[in-house]
Amino acid sequence: MSTLSYDELRALDARHVWHPFTQAGTAPPAILALGGKGTTVYGADGKEYLDVCSSWWVNLHGHGNPAIAQAIADQAMRLEQVIFADFTHEPAARLAARVAKRLPGDLDRVFFSDDGSTAVEVALKMARQYWSNQGQDRKVFVAFHGGYHGDTAGAMSAGRSCGIFSAWENMMFPVEVAPFPVTWDDDAEAEAKEQRALLALDEILERNAGKVAAIIIEPLIQGAAGMRMCRPHFLRLLKSRAREAGILLILDEVMTGFGRTGDIFACVKAGIQPDMVCLSKGLTGGFLPMSLTVTREYIYEGFLGMDTAKAFLHGHSYTANPLGCAAGLASLDLLEAPECQARIQAIEAIHRQRLPGIARHKSVSKTRICGTIAAFDLAGQGYGGALSNRVKNEFLAKGLLMRPMGDVLYLLPPYCIGDMELHRAWDIIDGVVSHL
Ligand SMILES: *Cc1c(COP(=O)(O)O)cnc(C)c1O
Repeated sequence: MSTLSYDELRALDARHVWHPFTQAGTAPPAILALGGKGTTVYGADGKEYLDVCSSWWVNLHGHGNPAIAQAIADQAMRLEQVIFADFTHEPAARLAARVAKRLPGDLDRVFFSDDGSTAVEVALKMARQYWSNQGQDRKVFVAFHGGYHGDTAGAMSAGRSCGIFSAWENMMFPVEVAPFPVTWDDDAEAEAKEQRALLALDEILERNAGKVAAIIIEPLIQGAAGMRMCRPHFLRLLKSRAREAGILLILDEVMTGFGRTGDIFACVKAGIQPDMVCLSKGLTGGFLPMSLTVTREYIYEGFLGMDTAKAFLHGHSYTANPLGCAAGLASLDLLEAPECQARIQAIEAIHRQRLPGIARHKSVSKTRICGTIAAFDLAGQGYGGALSNRVKNEFLAKGLLMRPMGDVLYLLPPYCIGDMELHRAWDIIDGVVSHL
């Protein structure tokens, strides 16, 4: 197809492309990917990269899954896109119903948007308007320290404590921030940290009595903060606080959704029913950008009436893109198959088998596992960004695609990864970590 050489393509990229989360002044040239199959990304440098971060957490079933590719191709021949006001289509209706069926209780109403950030933006705007439609002055949002909810202005505000948004301070609205009770294996302080977090939360809720619109949290795992985990028990306590105070509970399951935590959703694992759930990363199996904000039925009913101003006047050009929906349905078929469920169990079992071996190294601390995600810290010796870049480049040189976050290393593999491949990833990590 292309008559350009790899070097020419790299030169075009270097001249014209602006890469995300990258300081181009110091970053090495981008690796040119030629293709992907299963867990492997093929580089133009002749190397094969074992993708154990699911290409930024989206690639549920690995690269190039033929069933999803076929579903997209079939849908493209039927209907590639249609305006989603006044119209609907089969893949959207079916996907909404299937996701609602897997969520607890009456989380039945699905709003489509384009990515994790907009799913959160929609949830915040809905929460705010829900209360104003009820004639209530609830404007305050409560978030958790270190939480990350995306890069648009509202999502940044909810994640304002995560520390990467200082350039946009005046674009964010104020948010109350409660402590997140971070825990790990053999943490004797887990209970005490939960109690302290609850006390701080209670103080916030008291100070803002009658004013809080919603609490937003990444359930079980704060992803971008460095795979920081909390206990399911804390989420149950949080749910009862929210219920008592009549506050909406928004779970940002953009990363934890679709099997990552071992259960289909973190709220299922924790046994709680939130008022809203944000889903995106695994939704289309990593093929197309799409997201869902799912609400309980009473929230939807809070927007009904004769008055247009009471409606949710929000939407995106590609809302419920049929190709994305078709990919989502195909990805769910794969996810719900017994073979995939068995792989999810097997991944967790291998993490549990290998992590203690890693924990022996002097630089390793705070080992933790939740479902298919394993993580640990490289003991705080003031390494910071320099170490994570060095470690990342060492992994890449050994053919392992992993992106450390600060001094946190983690595995979040696609579910198609084989036992041998996962052991190989752990072997490489063991080798690199042993000499730090
Ligand atoms: C990645 C992420 C987002 C943002 O999603 P984008 O698709 O990158 O906009 C929001 N919340 C959480 C928990 C995430 O991990």
